[in-house]
Amino acid sequence: MSEATADVRDAQLAERKRVAAATVDTHRDALIALSHRIHENPELGFEEHQASAWAAEYLQNEGFAVELGVGKLPTAFRAELRTGPAGGPTIAILAEYDALAGLGHACGHNVICTSALGAAVAAARALDGLPARIVCIGTPAEETGGGKIILIENGLFDDVDAAMMVHPGTEHLMVRGALACITLTVRFHGKSAHAAGAPERGVNALDALVTMYNSIGLLRQHVKDDVRIHGIFTKAGDAPNVVPHLTEAVYYVRARSHTYVREVLEKVVACADAGARATGCTMEYRTDRMYRERRNNHAMAALYQQNLESFGEHASQPPTHGGVGSSDIGNVSLVCPTIHPYVAMAPLGTAGHSPEFREAARGEAGDRALVLAAKCMAMTVVDLAADPSRLAAAKAEFAAAQQAEAAE
Ligand SMILES: [Zn+2]
Ligand SMILES: [Zn+2]
Repeated sequence: MSEATADVRDAQLAERKRVAAATVDTHRDALIALSHRIHENPELGFEEHQASAWAAEYLQNEGFAVELGVGKLPTAFRAELRTGPAGGPTIAILAEYDALAGLGHACGHNVICTSALGAAVAAARALDGLPARIVCIGTPAEETGGGKIILIENGLFDDVDAAMMVHPGTEHLMVRGALACITLTVRFHGKSAHAAGAPERGVNALDALVTMYNSIGLLRQHVKDDVRIHGIFTKAGDAPNVVPHLTEAVYYVRARSHTYVREVLEKVVACADAGARATGCTMEYRTDRMYRERRNNHAMAALYQQNLESFGEHASQPPTHGGVGSSDIGNVSLVCPTIHPYVAMAPLGTAGHSPEFREAARGEAGDRALVLAAKCMAMTVVDLAADPSRLAAAKAEFAAAQQAEAAE
């Protein structure tokens, strides 16, 4: 490409980004109002009927073709708008809107949802005339049910070339690690008997549980540093004078890779088996869908960072270790190039899932974060859709990472 052509391309790109940011400003008041409305009406995972309907309605009013209840999930939606002639890439912007039991929107998903709506509307406007599809996917139950995993299983990401969402946090972070995580539920069945009068006739399911708990404690010495195993007893007996016949524990097993989670999971199940054998109980267990590790797309993250910096904002260095949780965005990041940056909202040091974080999510800081995140995402969509070489770079990085993992 000649210098002159590159200059023209850059000028066109800059103009489209200006339109993107200006469109978010036009929607500012409406997005903030909806953010507060969702915040004031918190709904738990898979029960986000109001939030998903409000979000879908917002996009429908902006000309998107909207389908509610996609992927066998009543509170999921898919909204699509074609910006020009057929062809071109499909870029997905993801909206979460579930709240936390007892805490409301203490993870700020009202900000995630409304920034996604703003970004989708603004990107669609900015790309007018170019071949591209802007898709906004409403993804339920991030906190508890792994809605995105179910949507992937049901094909919602099959046609997506790149995906993004922004999560509120305490600083601007472009990439961050996340652990793969699986939930294990173990049940022991024994036999109840009078704990003093006829203990020899009982089979103690609490002893099985405690043996498992202690065995897992011993296992910790022999796993890699990045492993987290943590659980609670959810059933541990009914009365001290009755030998417990039914007990249950729920554990999370996490590690940096899903393959290692599977390996550790097998050992944890063996600990449960040890409890059953030692006490004469029977044991059954089940595992839920696995939240996968996060594969950050650095090419996309660099574009997002440039757009963030164009507003005079500053990206922090990602933490080198620790302080990471798990999210179903990890699963998305393994099926298409994905970013999940964090936008500064609460003061540094504020814990997520806390009342302080919840208050920030509906205050001025939350409003500011949602507007900034919407602009940066919309501009990043413009980068990817208006300049094929940028999307190609993101896809090449994704393919290389996939290949490297397959070779491991
Ligand atoms: Zn959360
Ligand atoms: Zn969250």
